[in-house]
Amino acid sequence: MSERRPLIAGNWKMYKTSNEAAATASELAELVDDADHADIMVAPTFTGLDAVSLALNNSNVSLGAQNLHWEKEGAFTGEISAGMLTASGVIYVIIGHSERRQYFGETDETVNKKMRAAIEAGLRPVMCVGETESERDAGQTLPVLDKQVRGGLKGLVSEELTRLVIAYEPVWAIGTGKTATTEQAQEVHAYIRKLLAEMYTRDLADATRILYGGSVKPANIAELMAMEDIDGALVGGASLTADAFSQIVKF
Ligand code: PEP
Repeated sequence: MSERRPLIAGNWKMYKTSNEAAATASELAELVDDADHADIMVAPTFTGLDAVSLALNNSNVSLGAQNLHWEKEGAFTGEISAGMLTASGVIYVIIGHSERRQYFGETDETVNKKMRAAIEAGLRPVMCVGETESERDAGQTLPVLDKQVRGGLKGLVSEELTRLVIAYEPVWAIGTGKTATTEQAQEVHAYIRKLLAEMYTRDLADATRILYGGSVKPANIAELMAMEDIDGALVGGASLTADAFSQIVKF
């Protein structure tokens, strides 16, 4: 395991009403009350943010959001701004999740605009990158990640990236029960860190937390966390129950 402080993050996707989300958040906060070895975050849907924020008050679990729009306000029906998130107590925001790239047309360019908006608002961005199964089969994993990392961070300088978190989520491992082997994950994490050192500085690369995501569960978190460049996890399915997620937190 690295010396970076781990971050264990839960992405609740489009599950849970605000009441359900608040109940899970309260349960989780209690279960991880004594966990001080890692930062912990859960990202409910937008409608759950205020209720979960209340439920997490005085706990060691931070609030995250799953998306944002890059404009501050305006005629953008259905969108939510960075300022609206911070006003609801949001600390972290997931940007460019593969489901958003796949189903909602997000590109490296929109990811980059969202990154800028999040950073400007003082949010901690969790920028998601990852290859599809066909890209991996074609031997394109590292070039794809190179393009996503460079595209997402375009024009941003190291002073703006002190709170950067990157989540490596191979698309073929999300919600499928398939997990990358620890060696496959470590190879990509080390590659991303080397890329950050090339684009910025060694210090920035060493300080940036790179999470693994893709069918993380209580049974596989410990071996993933044992790898040098894996600094935490972004968890979908297994974050939906407080019991399973708390076991992951306590890897
Ligand atoms: C995710 O949604 O980011 C994710 C990794 O999902 P799952 O853990 O269900 O594969």
